[in-house]
Amino acid sequence: MADCIARLPEHVANQIAAGEVIQRPAAAVKELVENAVDAGATRIEVRIKDAGRTLIQVIDNGVGMTEGDAQRCFERHATSKVRSADDLFEIATKGFRGEALASIAAIAHVELKTRREESEVGTRVLVEGSAQQPVEPCTMPVGTQFAVRNLFYNVPARRNFLKSDAVEMRHIIDEFQRVALAHEAIHFVLFHNDTEVFNLKPGSRRQRVVGVFGAKYDERLVPIEESTDVVAVEGFVGKPEFARRTRGEQFLFVNRRFIKHSALHRAIVEAFEGLLSPSAHPLYVLFLTIDPHRVDVNIHPTKVEVKFEEDRSIQALLRPAVRRGLGRFQVAPTLDFDQESSLNIRELEPGATVVPPQVTINPNYNPFESERPSAPRSPAQWLEKRPSSAAIGAWQAHYAAVEVPALPKTEPSGRQEEPEVARTLFFFRNRFIVTAIRSALLLIDARRAHQRVLYESLVEQLESVAAPSAPTQTLLFPEAVHLPPADTLQLMEAAPWLRKLGLHFEAGSDGVQVTGMPVEGESTPKDLIDAVLAEAEEEVEGISREERVAAGWARRLAHRPGKVLGKEEMEDLVDRLFACSTPARDPFGRPVIVTFEDAEILERFR
Ligand code: ADP
Ligand code: MG
Repeated sequence: MADCIARLPEHVANQIAAGEVIQRPAAAVKELVENAVDAGATRIEVRIKDAGRTLIQVIDNGVGMTEGDAQRCFERHATSKVRSADDLFEIATKGFRGEALASIAAIAHVELKTRREESEVGTRVLVEGSAQQPVEPCTMPVGTQFAVRNLFYNVPARRNFLKSDAVEMRHIIDEFQRVALAHEAIHFVLFHNDTEVFNLKPGSRRQRVVGVFGAKYDERLVPIEESTDVVAVEGFVGKPEFARRTRGEQFLFVNRRFIKHSALHRAIVEAFEGLLSPSAHPLYVLFLTIDPHRVDVNIHPTKVEVKFEEDRSIQALLRPAVRRGLGRFQVAPTLDFDQESSLNIRELEPGATVVPPQVTINPNYNPFESERPSAPRSPAQWLEKRPSSAAIGAWQAHYAAVEVPALPKTEPSGRQEEPEVARTLFFFRNRFIVTAIRSALLLIDARRAHQRVLYESLVEQLESVAAPSAPTQTLLFPEAVHLPPADTLQLMEAAPWLRKLGLHFEAGSDGVQVTGMPVEGESTPKDLIDAVLAEAEEEVEGISREERVAAGWARRLAHRPGKVLGKEEMEDLVDRLFACSTPARDPFGRPVIVTFEDAEILERFR
């Protein structure tokens, strides 16, 4: 038998490595920007098109490469940064595996232009799927320019796996921010589709943090500075009253490298004990400086997780350091989180993702027995949006036939001819509407019912092609909502469909100016915007971001828990609920209605 083992061709090996190193456009951005930092650049410009699918361009003014280096840099394990295994323990640069460029070149069309100071002309190299074309001379300033086009063009599985532009761009911004925060002396610029998102001039650490998060943050920062002979910590934490309900503004760096370390994270958050509500996430941007011999950065391909020899002593330093910082600035525990606690209504945690419920609707329950098959509904049907007029008719028919002999009518009976007069609605425990249909007693959770109603009407607005914007309540005075630049970008990109939901706004200085709000419901511009931003962080299979925002808004716009409803409000709500396609569940899949069948009731009176 012939031998079976063959060496993988280089381009195949590269593609495999690419899967590990470059999972999404953000990873390519990270590698290219870190290379530019390593090259000693003082200005780094990043230009992104279509969240990196079409183009990722990184332009630096660093040392550049010689023609020979430009030719070699796409080879695997080509690196100028490590010469021996011993070097690994003294790494001060970002990259060292020599894998990034080979990986990117294996899965994209890459153009490299580079020039060193001592050469008059630059070098231009084109690589497509690891196939390198002969180099050409080019004119350009000193430095290096990478253009990565059509990422994953030859890896359809990867390409299809990419999330929406909003999510991919969020990842890119995360990576960009991590590098920018760690290098305040470098001028960083980021464009997305020709819109300037960041223009961060060189400055102090504080200026950099404020540049990244927005001018409002200047007053929110508490400086931290402390050191022992093993480690020094420096940076900022946010005042507790500005802690956000979504995670995200938490950055820990070791020797200017962004890391994730759960024990250290805990140590920092513990320092806020007693100052924060449990659902709030404090901001921190902290820089640890440790002798590189005591850090092992080489334990993960993307190098976010690190090991320390001195784990414990670092933790022991961090907590009191942050605590002291907070104390020094006499940060008062002024907490302001609108907590909704009445009757133990369990709300969706802010920032939590909406999971389509594993719907096992009780097949025996169906207020419209005659209208619909009684099969349990699938999640897809659960998300069905169209209110059917048949449902309205059925509900009214039921109502018309309601007999409630025992209960006195609250209204003078002058309107006897109208069918609604037969209704008896009763508000129970400031939460439930109690009513009856032909063969059952119903308990309706008023707030959840309202969420369902709002949700379906929002989704209907989203889907209506005719109306470019939903009715809106124009604000007499536009309301400024201050946002970090990254959030402003996200929001501006969502503006067209948010308009359909009734939220009108314009780009303002340092955030947006809200000019119109949805007509129905009680909420604030800030609250609705928070809901939009929270939904950009994750993607849920099967439910679009727009629908999740609609659900988040329904939650925020709905009657507050415990709100007392009058008779007419109850009637209106019940009518609209039963005009919904899925009245039985709220947008988060929780039950809206509980029924007690006549038979069941009679059984109990036996
Ligand atoms: P690594 O960064 O791990 O060394 P890369 O594949 O990212 O590996 O880069 C390979 C080599 O290409 C680097 O070691 C460096 O010599 C060179 N290089 C990459 N990007 C730049 C740049 N922007 N400026 C100068 N040299 C660069
Ligand atoms: Mg590198």
